[in-house]
Amino acid sequence: MGSTKNYFLTLLEQCSEEQFGQDAIEAALVNGALKLTYNLPTDLHTIFDLRSNCCDAPPQGECCAKGSGRCSQCGEGAQFESNFDRFVVAHQKQCREHGDALVEVYRASGIMEEILRPMSLAQHIPQPVQDYAGTHHTS
Ligand SMILES: [Zn+2]
Repeated sequence: MGSTKNYFLTLLEQCSEEQFGQDAIEAALVNGALKLTYNLPTDLHTIFDLRSNCCDAPPQGECCAKGSGRCSQCGEGAQFESNFDRFVVAHQKQCREHGDALVEVYRASGIMEEILRPMSLAQHIPQPVQDYAGTHHTS
């Protein structure tokens, strides 16, 4: 199990220097979108090779910078992206939905007001009041 973990950490380092990119790979692995062969070059190809949106096939010849090219399977012009792009997009979507769901839970349970309260309190800093004895209170 230890070597699997080490392999995975090496793979993550190769994939992205950013935490979000690494999280996206990890999420893809957990949800089954990414299957590892535990052969580093093969797995990096699986993650980074460009595939057409129509046939999931590699581009014919070189792909232009914007990801458009010719599909090697059907021969039509196609948009290309890597699995890494797809993982990142899927992970962004999932994080956003998760965040939205969390806000809903907070709102429903009244925690949101609890969280926001210190901010509104700060706008009502108690003013010192003077009573008949002339002493100052801050209540
Ligand atoms: Zn195609």
